[in-house]
Amino acid sequence: MQKISAQIKKSGKTIVLVPTMGYLHEGHLSLVRIGQKVCDIVIVSIFVNPTQFGPAEDLDSYPKDLERDCALLKKEGVETVFAPASEELYPAGYQTYVNTLKLSEHLCGISRPALFQGVTTVLTKLFNIVNPDKAVFGKKDFQQFVIVSRMVKDLNFNIEIIGAPIIREADGLAMSSRNAYLKKNQRDSALSLYKALKKAENLVKKGEKKAEVIINAASKLINSFDEILIDYISICDFEFFEEVKIIDRPVLMALAVKAGRTRLIDNIILFQ
Ligand code: AMP
Repeated sequence: MQKISAQIKKSGKTIVLVPTMGYLHEGHLSLVRIGQKVCDIVIVSIFVNPTQFGPAEDLDSYPKDLERDCALLKKEGVETVFAPASEELYPAGYQTYVNTLKLSEHLCGISRPALFQGVTTVLTKLFNIVNPDKAVFGKKDFQQFVIVSRMVKDLNFNIEIIGAPIIREADGLAMSSRNAYLKKNQRDSALSLYKALKKAENLVKKGEKKAEVIINAASKLINSFDEILIDYISICDFEFFEEVKIIDRPVLMALAVKAGRTRLIDNIILFQ
């Protein structure tokens, strides 16, 4: 991959990386299409990164279909897919990790303590291997987008990070590879995330400023659905994820739930 990347660069072309864990859907493909607009060559990485999964998480069952992914990418005009084996990125004796300290201690980092160290580590490796000019990340994983942007700034990577909008199913559910796990009733309940965010948006538009009132309303709505367990609902600033009590500027409302055993996340920016 390093050799291919060097050849592309030598020919004067620019590279944009779209990092994924595969089992691609329209959300991923939207990142590819953004990439095509900003650079000459789009490289997609497909790697289910073991270091970002905790011991009780879904590493072994994470959905995979490399052949289908490559066919979808070919259709989009992507010619280079980087899909290394786990042992290639983490050979025996591996010791080095990258951390974004406090940023990883909020939101998803609380119930998934391994997540962001794994993400920043594997992205550092992918950035060094692919050597892209730009990289595209979905705002569905808003905390990840902020953390990667911070890491690139803090560690002087010469890479522009581009944030892409959340792509949703027709009814509003944010697309996710994990949606494939959902049984029929869980799929119905999963929609409560989007409904709760829309409710919050409406409350704020009507003049509600208290985060607590909005969180309570969202929580009540989600809890009225079957098989849903709330992990967190947070209204916070979107630079450091510090809790916000009064919404007097644009804020991030982020939430995570479990529908059965499937973890789902979604978010919205709230402003008046
Ligand atoms: P994943 O394969 O889930 O690790 O996601 C790879 C990239 O695709 C990340 O930058 C995600 O934020 C992005 N992504 C996943 N789902 C969506 C979606 N529904 N809309 C926009 N971007 C997404």
